[in-house]
Amino acid sequence: MSQRRWFLQTSLYLGASWPLWLRSSLSSVSAPVKVKKKGEMIYRQLGRTGFYVSEISLGSSPLPEWGLFREIIDRGVNYIDSSHTYQGGNAERMIGRLCREVGRDKIYVATKFHLRPADTVSSIIRTVEGSLRRLQSDYIDVLMIHGVNHPAELTDERVLEALARLKKAGKYRYQGFSCHQNHLEVMAAAIEGNLYDVIQIGYNVYDLKKGEKPIRTYPEYLGTSGLKPLFRRAASQGIGLVAMKALKVGGRRQDLSQFQTKSSSIYQAMLKWVLANPYISTVVTEMLTYQQMEEDLAVVGEHLSRAERKNLYRLVAQTSHLTCRMCGTCQKVCPQSIPLPTILRYLYYFEIQQKYSLAKEAYARLKPALKECLSCRQCEENCPYQLPVQDLFQSAQKILA
Ligand code: SF4
Ligand code: SF4
Repeated sequence: MSQRRWFLQTSLYLGASWPLWLRSSLSSVSAPVKVKKKGEMIYRQLGRTGFYVSEISLGSSPLPEWGLFREIIDRGVNYIDSSHTYQGGNAERMIGRLCREVGRDKIYVATKFHLRPADTVSSIIRTVEGSLRRLQSDYIDVLMIHGVNHPAELTDERVLEALARLKKAGKYRYQGFSCHQNHLEVMAAAIEGNLYDVIQIGYNVYDLKKGEKPIRTYPEYLGTSGLKPLFRRAASQGIGLVAMKALKVGGRRQDLSQFQTKSSSIYQAMLKWVLANPYISTVVTEMLTYQQMEEDLAVVGEHLSRAERKNLYRLVAQTSHLTCRMCGTCQKVCPQSIPLPTILRYLYYFEIQQKYSLAKEAYARLKPALKECLSCRQCEENCPYQLPVQDLFQSAQKILA
């Protein structure tokens, strides 16, 4: 049976059962993603790949235990995001086992390779071949560059040559990249170059560009995002958009009970907010417990209520000054070019997500190239969100070293 035919044979096109709010929002924009429904899951088209991916997809850093992993897939999740580094390669091994059990054509696998200074065309190809071995697969559905922070990485000759050879050998179907910082610049370049089929980008209620409009009401707050017009342009070119980092405030490990509504958690509201964007095809989340799975899957096809919007607004207003948006401004103005957003991300992994080893290992790789801080405080004077950047950097040095 051809790729995904099993699904196309049984799925339904968007029909009267679809929430009115989403039908109207989808019909009011120029090139929204197409959607289908099967069982309890809703699938959105991932740009020109033509893949119909579940609204909620599964991150694999880390993956849940095996029984829960199978349950999540049985509940309709069909897109898994991975990388050669996740769980030391074990995430890809587990995905490989899953594909063997449920059928390779039932799952869309996205995995990534890093581009590091010492990399060559051959080393990139070796990394991807390692992923294929662990996945026990002949191909990757979406092969991504991991963590593009600068537009130049998109046209790096080593990457383009490696991708060309791998594509010719049938090792992957579509190419993409993930982006953790400097989102606006990287996305604009990707749209201009149109070389990549999928963009995986950090997108959440904090992804707001300060200063364009006064922050008085929640809808105005939403209107200040600098990414929304880029999403529209990307979608009009058939570039698929995958959202990540939707639960920006530390995954589910912080006590945010003051922002709950009676019927939903703040995390559900955050996911709904991301999925309310009609250009996003799927949002990657970690589901490590049955309770988290139920929490995330419950948002499929659900509308963000007025009460939830209000709570999101309160949350953003109260925690904005503590939350790095990964805009990259501090690194650009730092006379020592210290990769502050990356370091703050690792601090976030450690302090909030409690991914202790991952954070320390990632920082250890970065440390040899770090220049000494001059204490000029240019970073925090220029942070558009008034974060205490230098203090956070010093904390990171103490905690992660
Ligand atoms: S205070 Fe340190 S980290 Fe901040 S801009 Fe100056 S040199 Fe860079
Ligand atoms: S600390 Fe501020 S300037 Fe630096 S990336 Fe985060 S939000 Fe941007």
